[in-house]
Amino acid sequence: MGAHADVRTAPRALATEAVHAGRDDLARQGLHAPPIDLSTTYPSYDSRGEAARIDAFAATGTEPDGPPVYGRLGNPTVARFETALARLEGTEAAVAFASGMAALSAVLLVRASMGLRHVVAVRPLYGCSDHLLTAGLLGSEVTWTDPAGIAEALRPDTGLVIVESPANPTLAEVDLRAVAHACGSVPLLVDNTFATPVLQRPAEQGARLVLHSATKYLGGHGDVLAGVLACDEEFAGRLRQVRFATGGVLHPLAGYLLLRGLSTLPVRVRAASANAAELARRLAADPRVAHVHYPRIGGAMVSFEIHGDPHEVIAGVRLITPAVSLGSVDTLIQHPASISHRIVDADDRRGAGVSDRLLRMSVGLEDVEDLWSDLDQALKRPDRGAGNCATSRNEPAPAV
Ligand SMILES: *Cc1c(COP(=O)(O)O)cnc(C)c1O
Repeated sequence: MGAHADVRTAPRALATEAVHAGRDDLARQGLHAPPIDLSTTYPSYDSRGEAARIDAFAATGTEPDGPPVYGRLGNPTVARFETALARLEGTEAAVAFASGMAALSAVLLVRASMGLRHVVAVRPLYGCSDHLLTAGLLGSEVTWTDPAGIAEALRPDTGLVIVESPANPTLAEVDLRAVAHACGSVPLLVDNTFATPVLQRPAEQGARLVLHSATKYLGGHGDVLAGVLACDEEFAGRLRQVRFATGGVLHPLAGYLLLRGLSTLPVRVRAASANAAELARRLAADPRVAHVHYPRIGGAMVSFEIHGDPHEVIAGVRLITPAVSLGSVDTLIQHPASISHRIVDADDRRGAGVSDRLLRMSVGLEDVEDLWSDLDQALKRPDRGAGNCATSRNEPAPAV
């Protein structure tokens, strides 16, 4: 018995957490696969007790003990995924949302409700995150700066600092520890979608909020749209209150698929990263390629500028899928200036290092030789449509 208790409380490695976190109660319940609870409401004959539970939620945002009252307050299947992700990121809690953008919106609403509408952010960010801040859709006001300018950009009403590392789509990296230091008492949000907790745990480096588009690597199979924030319990409470009031909840089936996705996350990320590193090496040695971006911390994303027309590469791939999004088991390629970052003003986009010749590739689990031969034949296509490309053909791609 004692031996059992020791095994359960000993610190566990990431690979172990990935397959066990959020499932610790299953064996004792006589289950192996986690149950999917699709209930929208939860019966109770004790309405005094329900009133107390709702009061407690309204005060602190702590999840009610026992059944959640109503699906918008919480869901047991989604809670398993939240528990598991918090373990992987090394935070007290995690709060899941219907998408990455719903998760980011909830953070902005939490801070705005405290009168802290000013955001300091570093470009590039994912195109829609950039757009949400720039357009001020949630009443926020943004100051764009580089990492060295963060401390100076802070104001008394600054509620948040946002960075992505490696960033979408240039894979630019920021020194998270230095940025966290520059933020002082202002919460730092790190979008960790590209790195995943397998390669980087921003909370250990001082980030108060770790954001994931769980649509990407956490789900990992291109069939779930989801977002999640890993953070301390106090911030998680506020996020749950916003989620309850605004309704951007995650569907329980998505929660189930995400928990299943997490169990293979370390294996998928390591295998895809090995493929990506090899493709980055071959691209860097290829005279048709002007510049390759591959992060120091590694990962399964590779971006590269080509001398020819990027639209021809997109039109030419056969095994690789020409599609936005990333983090699936199969390889995807897209042209950020046309798709993922189209919504960002062209000058802002180029200023952030997103050249019109940049292609972003999310490397999957295929055999690397098959991937290379597909890329190689797509890069061979004649430069027919150069007129469609916004930059002139002879202009050298900027080294970013
Ligand atoms: C896709 C993405 C988002 C947005 O997530 P959705 O799940 O599509 O809403 C945010 N940040 C990064 C880095 C992304 O790649």
